[in-house]
Amino acid sequence: MNTNKPPVVTSSPSTVVAYDQTHFGNAVVPPIFQNSLFVFESFTDMADTYAGKKVRPVYSRGLNPTVRAFEEKIAKLEKTEDALGFGSGMAAISASVLSVVKPGDRIVAVEHIYPDAYRFFEMMLKDLNVTVDYVDGRDPDAVDKALPGAKLLYLESPTSWTFHVHDIAKLCEIARKHSAISMIDNSWASPVFQQPAKLGCDVVIHSASKYLGGHSDVVAGVVASNNEFIGRLRGQILPYLGSKLSAFDAWLLLRGLRTLPARMREHQRSGLAIAQKLADHPEVVAVHHPTLGRNLPDGLTGASGLFSFEFSPRVNIPNFCDALGIFKIGVSWGGHESLVVPALVSRAQVGGPNSALRFGVPENLVRLHIGLEDAEDLWSDLSAAIDAAL
Ligand SMILES: *Cc1c(COP(=O)(O)O)cnc(C)c1O
Repeated sequence: MNTNKPPVVTSSPSTVVAYDQTHFGNAVVPPIFQNSLFVFESFTDMADTYAGKKVRPVYSRGLNPTVRAFEEKIAKLEKTEDALGFGSGMAAISASVLSVVKPGDRIVAVEHIYPDAYRFFEMMLKDLNVTVDYVDGRDPDAVDKALPGAKLLYLESPTSWTFHVHDIAKLCEIARKHSAISMIDNSWASPVFQQPAKLGCDVVIHSASKYLGGHSDVVAGVVASNNEFIGRLRGQILPYLGSKLSAFDAWLLLRGLRTLPARMREHQRSGLAIAQKLADHPEVVAVHHPTLGRNLPDGLTGASGLFSFEFSPRVNIPNFCDALGIFKIGVSWGGHESLVVPALVSRAQVGGPNSALRFGVPENLVRLHIGLEDAEDLWSDLSAAIDAAL
């Protein structure tokens, strides 16, 4: 086998297949294609590629085999025709939304979306004369009333900070009725616990910086959808916004994906155990965990390790944070490490006259990410920190 040859890229009109293990000496782990350009074998090879007669890597801003291997795996996991990697979750969100809306259009979004997605809507889209109306996604009638005339229904379930769970199948059916595109941020559940395309959602987005990567060493994003949507993103949006996924980051994501189901099971087990202990604690007044003490909603088959809870007024939240040992104070989530973020700090960041309304979380709320450490150790850490903060 000639392993010096660049991988052969075959294409049907709508799909690109860039990774074939046999081209890499049957390496069990695909190589990192850490190169910007791919040379042509001849004038004809180049001319045919430019004429669209064949698809092959030309320049890594457009197509890179390591990135392509990651995209193919995501499409399989999300049960979609295709997927496209991005340099961050926000790049995946902004590119997807910008590929759909134009000036004068309206978006309906559920409340409590990821705060930076909210800021993108409120600051950048507003300047482009795109308006966004926010509705409680737990109320399908409210969504139905808000949708007529809207171009896009933007979903996130469970929601950020409040962890409200929505009936995705129902909301996407309503979107279809009103000829709106449905789009969902599926970062919390990962495809292990929720596959929105199977529930009728048109576009599925992930911050791959969270569970897909799983080791807190990558910032990346990915969009999964049908050939038409991904083809337009790949051909008409990503090349010009330029927010591509790097080969090295794609390689780290491929490594992360190998343990995704095992990690998610562990996050679920420890997360539920700790959420239950918090629910039983006298200084905790509410626990916002999407599956604790309820039947799993349709389409959600499990829970990850991210949830929030509310302290009684007796607990001093800054002292609680500072008394933690195993839990670190930090944003993001989805890695091996357990993390805490108090809403007290985070809500100040949102700013703007409507921030309290939009962010809408109480000051006694604390968000936890339950990592892969021993659950007993994590609980000892939490309960000791609560005692220290009384
Ligand atoms: C982190 C996050 C994002 C943004 O992803 P980045 O990779 O940080 O750009 C989007 N949605 C949710 C729910 C997130 O938690």
